[in-house]
Amino acid sequence: MKITDIKSFIVGINNKNLMVVKVETDNGLYGIGQGGTTTREEAMVGMIKHIRHFLIGKDPRRIEDINQEIYRSQYYEGGTIISATTSAIDLALWDILGKHLNTPIWQLLGGASRNHVTCYIDGPAGSGNTFADQAANLVKTGWKTIRFTPETGDPLFRQDKDSIFEPWESIGWTAKQMKSVRNKVGPDIKLAVDYHHRLNVAQAAFFCREVEDVGLLFLEEPIRSESPQAYAALRQMTPMPFAIGEEFSGIYVFAPFIEQGLANYVRLDICNVGGFTAARKVAAMAEAHYLDIVPHTPQGPICLAASVHLCSAIHNFAILEYPWETAKVPSDLFPRQPQLEKDHFLLPQFPGLGIEFNEEVASHYPPVPWEAPHFRRRDGSFTNY
Ligand SMILES: [Mg+2]
Repeated sequence: MKITDIKSFIVGINNKNLMVVKVETDNGLYGIGQGGTTTREEAMVGMIKHIRHFLIGKDPRRIEDINQEIYRSQYYEGGTIISATTSAIDLALWDILGKHLNTPIWQLLGGASRNHVTCYIDGPAGSGNTFADQAANLVKTGWKTIRFTPETGDPLFRQDKDSIFEPWESIGWTAKQMKSVRNKVGPDIKLAVDYHHRLNVAQAAFFCREVEDVGLLFLEEPIRSESPQAYAALRQMTPMPFAIGEEFSGIYVFAPFIEQGLANYVRLDICNVGGFTAARKVAAMAEAHYLDIVPHTPQGPICLAASVHLCSAIHNFAILEYPWETAKVPSDLFPRQPQLEKDHFLLPQFPGLGIEFNEEVASHYPPVPWEAPHFRRRDGSFTNY
């Protein structure tokens, strides 16, 4: 079997763009993959143009070898765009292998470790003006684990638009909301917060103290994650469990966070880390330190489908993110998508990824002019989205 073509598509859905690849082979099988940088999709398409010539003619079953070659062949190896593009090709190659062997990918990763893959959901999926109302609404529909993304209490603040984000206003407001969530839903519902790396070390430590009696399952990325030393400093100031890693490109960035006890949950993103090939290596690193993975999935239905396969097979899995906007993914573009059953996915039964992408209608979903929101503090200085 040989790779005969690699096509890339940027499709705009839910006001965001997905970079989808299709790897075709000489026996008629093809695989679907996705790169997950959330923005800068044109850079991933440019990367595909750079690597296409040396991938055509290769046996698509040499997945490890191709993964190494894409990641390392430009001398300056790795980085966000290269790793995301490596992920896209890697997912497509595993899809081809599964179809070729007529088996779902989780079987190729060691078989089932569980009967279903349990998910958590984000607060805004529930209706209501307060976190407590949203949580109560979600609990009523069967959710047992709910995560919230902090706001500021300013009615002008929007998570999805350029906004003023003042950390100290957010800390007080969010802590109060989380306390009222706990009062409303009781002790048995698991709660988490994703601070989207919007705090500094002192602010993060302060927030952890403020929500001590809420009992969070985890606090996700309170600070930026370039510096393991910063997390080590924060770790000294709080016993809070941290979920870290959704932005990490390649396996190596995870090592200090896992080895030094800085991450308590490993938040890999299969469309950024380097596909199944890298994700299972990170999961193995985590397993050796008794840590569970909590994959990041909002990149779209391909990312979600691939993560369901990974979590079906990997033993050290805690819970999967269910991106609530998944329900709005158009079915003519993705005629087959993973189907949620209450708060979990059953193990996928179709060969390969089990997802279909209809390239004939891709042009009906042109790229949208989306830019990640730019946040500024009240004094005008830039801060993280
Ligand atoms: Mg996050």
